[in-house]
Amino acid sequence: MSNTTPQKFEFQAEISQLLDIVTHSLYTEKEIFVRELVSNASDALEKLRHTQLTEKEIFDDKLDLEINVTTDDKAKTITIQDFGIGLTRAELVENLGTIAHSGSKQFLKALGEGAATNANLIGQFGVGFYSAFMVAKKVRVYSHSWRSGEPGHVWESDGSGSYTIEESDGQRRGAKIVIELKDDCADFAQDSEIKEILERYSAFVSFPINLNGKRVNTVQALWLRNKNEVKDEEYTEFYKFQAHAYDEPRLRLHFSADAPLSINALLFVPKENTEKLGFSRLEPAVSLYCRKVMIDAKPKDLLPEWLRFLKGVVDSEDLPLNISRETMQDKALVARLNSVITKRFLKFLDEEAKNRPEGYEEFYKEFGIFLKEGAAMDFAHKEALTKLLRFESSLTEKGKTTSLADYVSRMTGDAKEIYYLVGPNRAAIESGPYLEAFKARNLEVLFCYEAVDEYVMNNAREFDGKKLTAADHADVKLSDLPKPEGALSDDDVKTLTKWLKETLDARVAEVKSSDRLVDSPVLALNADKFMSPHMRRMMKAMNKDGAETPLRVNLEINPRHAVIKRLFETHTANPDRAKLVAEQLLDNALISAGLLDDASAMVARLNKILETV
Ligand code: ADP
Ligand code: MG
Repeated sequence: MSNTTPQKFEFQAEISQLLDIVTHSLYTEKEIFVRELVSNASDALEKLRHTQLTEKEIFDDKLDLEINVTTDDKAKTITIQDFGIGLTRAELVENLGTIAHSGSKQFLKALGEGAATNANLIGQFGVGFYSAFMVAKKVRVYSHSWRSGEPGHVWESDGSGSYTIEESDGQRRGAKIVIELKDDCADFAQDSEIKEILERYSAFVSFPINLNGKRVNTVQALWLRNKNEVKDEEYTEFYKFQAHAYDEPRLRLHFSADAPLSINALLFVPKENTEKLGFSRLEPAVSLYCRKVMIDAKPKDLLPEWLRFLKGVVDSEDLPLNISRETMQDKALVARLNSVITKRFLKFLDEEAKNRPEGYEEFYKEFGIFLKEGAAMDFAHKEALTKLLRFESSLTEKGKTTSLADYVSRMTGDAKEIYYLVGPNRAAIESGPYLEAFKARNLEVLFCYEAVDEYVMNNAREFDGKKLTAADHADVKLSDLPKPEGALSDDDVKTLTKWLKETLDARVAEVKSSDRLVDSPVLALNADKFMSPHMRRMMKAMNKDGAETPLRVNLEINPRHAVIKRLFETHTANPDRAKLVAEQLLDNALISAGLLDDASAMVARLNKILETV
């Protein structure tokens, strides 16, 4: 049977509906039609490769398995030709005229479920072959099936309800799709335009893609290869290409998983944290692929926010059969990918910390801030993230850090708290009045130097069942130390603290004798539970409300200290001078705590005290 005159067919009702949406929606990412047609070409080549394994008689058997794209800016056409399995007459009718196929079917289903027709939806579903009609006045599909007995055909449509099929001699095996572009889409007949689009979406398609005779895709989809067979240089080359990077990757994680989802992932940590350098906030940069074809370059929910420094590729290949790459807007699926990949990456960091501590330390210096963000905000991964944090402590050397797990391993007796102090640097914390009580009791204190640390500790709250506790908090209870010789008696202390409270009046909430102090005469503790000294400093720096509320502190005195003993004597013998000393002691304590807002009154008083020397 031969058909030499064009035969006219109506599109199935659903296809007409689909075409109507595709051709009439004002769609910004029209370029995805290239991705869709190249993917179909790649699928057809893949099918041919399989067919070749079992079939001896293949039409045009000498052809290379490749995809040729040609543009003609005079004629305003773009042609995408593959040497794949091609389509018979019946297949042209079945595959291009009815809604038998995955992507488009899912698209209509989503619309039926009330999804709005927007750019995003079309972009994700792709709507396959029909997306050509976003840019085409007319589409012609020239094809010859791999089956030798079949003639060639040309299928033609302007996308308005019907199409024709006619026999056509001289066709090569596979499909050649010629698109006559709409006038306002003539840019797609530019070589440079198509080159960019192919590089964006189809860079890793397995078959050679030639654009106007020049090979476009030269980098392999490394993530699908066995990691034992990939060289370091190949990874670096891939990273530079895929992440548009100029540096060398600092760390990489290449893994695949079969359950609960099939995942092939290749993730990179760059050399530098550009956010730290003052560049703008990073955007998600791990791209989502399905069978080597890019679905989304910057998927928002694929990874948690705090992993925004990662680059690379996640390819989920064997998705459950009813889910094609066009349904990746499926939130639940992305959430599951997110969970698997995040856990895997955390495990990877934990192993790095153990096996290559120096490399981890370097990584942490650069990217630790993201782990802190996660520890404070990502409840699901808080414990694993807290485990990855590192701090200097009263027991480490300057510049060396400890993990919380190591801190816990050094805890003695029935200690239940992990202590930390926040301060601008090691020297400031060590010379402050808060540390000595802990040192005297052999209690380790973590040193936190970064502005976010207090927030992180407050949010992380505990680690390994031990409470994270600010060592300068008024509530901290420490064990008794043996009373040294020569301290003021309990009665004298009572008298002096009462006098101090009356003398300092509104500036203090409470005055008491301290068991924390060893070398310092006094110590100021924040009376406001909800605002630590450090937080107050930050608020002040940001000029937020709260900084202006009058400051009231708890003053603790050291009954063993010479200055306090002397003050006890002068407070009756020379009350005026004692008052000056008391005020100066309070200011000294506030300076140590970083809480003295205005030093002018203090300087005037100091001068007065100096007069009497
Ligand atoms: P999908 O690719 O999701 O199946 P498409 O709308 O992209 O949906 O394509 C519809 C069908 O048309 C494909 O399933 C395939 O059978 C057929 N087809 C499209 N392009 C080609 C091609 N280049 N070669 C052979 N068959 C093709
Ligand atoms: Mg397709």
